[in-house]
Amino acid sequence: MDFEIANNSHFLFCYHLAKELFASLPDGRFFLQTQVSGDIVRATARFASDRDDLTVSQSASIKREFGLSRAENLAVGKAAWELFTNLSDRRPPYGVLVGVRPTKVALYYLEHGLSDPELIDRLTHDYFVRKEKALLLLKLAKTEKRIVENLASSDAVLYLSIPFCPSRCKYCSFISQSAPKQLARLDEYLSRMREELQKTAELFFGIGKTLKAVYLGGGTPGVLTEAQLDALFCELEADFNLSPDTEITAELGRPDTVTAEKLRVLSDHGIRRVCINPQTLSDEVLRENGRSHTAKQFYDAYSLARKTGRFCINADLIAGLSGDTPQGFLKSLTEILALDPENLTIHSLCKKRASEDESAFLAASEGIWTGAVSDAMHACINRGYEPYYLYRQKNTIENLENLGYAKPGQECVYNIAMMEDLCDVFSVGAGAITKLISKKGPHQKIRRFASYKYPTEYLSDPGKREKRFMEIKRLYMENPDDPVVL
Ligand code: SF4
Repeated sequence: MDFEIANNSHFLFCYHLAKELFASLPDGRFFLQTQVSGDIVRATARFASDRDDLTVSQSASIKREFGLSRAENLAVGKAAWELFTNLSDRRPPYGVLVGVRPTKVALYYLEHGLSDPELIDRLTHDYFVRKEKALLLLKLAKTEKRIVENLASSDAVLYLSIPFCPSRCKYCSFISQSAPKQLARLDEYLSRMREELQKTAELFFGIGKTLKAVYLGGGTPGVLTEAQLDALFCELEADFNLSPDTEITAELGRPDTVTAEKLRVLSDHGIRRVCINPQTLSDEVLRENGRSHTAKQFYDAYSLARKTGRFCINADLIAGLSGDTPQGFLKSLTEILALDPENLTIHSLCKKRASEDESAFLAASEGIWTGAVSDAMHACINRGYEPYYLYRQKNTIENLENLGYAKPGQECVYNIAMMEDLCDVFSVGAGAITKLISKKGPHQKIRRFASYKYPTEYLSDPGKREKRFMEIKRLYMENPDDPVVL
């Protein structure tokens, strides 16, 4: 499909919506134009091919409280949806909300005073979100609103990136380093990270930030030895004023990397949140997906964590893994729920790196995971969990979401703040992004500073990092209240 769009700012939206609605984009040309007349904005979409020639128009009124761009987006969304759904049988669960963070739209209307029924009506009729997902977005927006109210404008979070893994899972779409040669550079990498931590702390306090939460993520941070974990957290404590209230999460990741000693190091550093991620409890599915651990190793790691410290434990599962079935996925979930972890995250398989075998499997299973993910949500809610953060990725199985659940009061603030762009995120290490967030709402401005993707580049060129520090400092010096000027 070729796109001919008068206002280029709608291109990505139309392209991604088309990708969600068509298994493969049809041959032909898609045209879109918008027109404003008085307080009405009209969008006209047309698709022309050898077989079809279809045109639809949709309009939206420009309300003072919502502004022109929201009205234009609404009209474009409605026109593109109507046109595409005339040509496709697919109805993605989040309708025209093709972005990573659909909760933002719900939060926006909640903050603009829409009642719960009005919000559901808006999401289902104007954004074509399925009712069950609209109710979920409303619930999440309310949780988020509560967290936002507790965040000060100076609050920021810190991400420590360990993009290394002991081996590579077949479905992985993450840039992680698993070759023994790369792992051999882990010490060097950590020493560079410690330097970067010191400099980040100087910048952080220099621009008046307060540390709200820290997340050690990967890859598989469990590849760090206990001595390496200890050195990293000693550095963090020396550089940042950690208070007992600073939330710290250590994602250990693969259960086969978890040991009692590592858990003890974390506990001794006052860390109260760990993630141990089996993804499935079927040994067969684990093998098929190249995850080199067993279900028993997950149980052992989980029980060690329970014995070693007062940890809030998160476990990750994936819906749609190659070789799994909805029944098998729900069985894994039942077994995890029986352990009663404080947090649980259910991901939907991201198809972008699917091998040919996996693609064939995914095509054959089209449509079967939506019900399983919905059953999983009800099972979690029945066990006393609440969904608390959500994000979507492109090309997930059946366009489903990744959803985090928590027992009441056990939510991970880092996850919400980072996923929903509620405050600045400072990142240390390769493959991570520092984000400055200036304003909430429809015109929120975000500036991203990417580090090098790979540890080798990160180690060979500290210059990029230095430039990033200087640029952030300059932005804050020029305009401390709104450093993000785009
Ligand atoms: S553990 Fe995670 S990051 Fe590492 S290879 Fe497997 S899926 Fe990728």
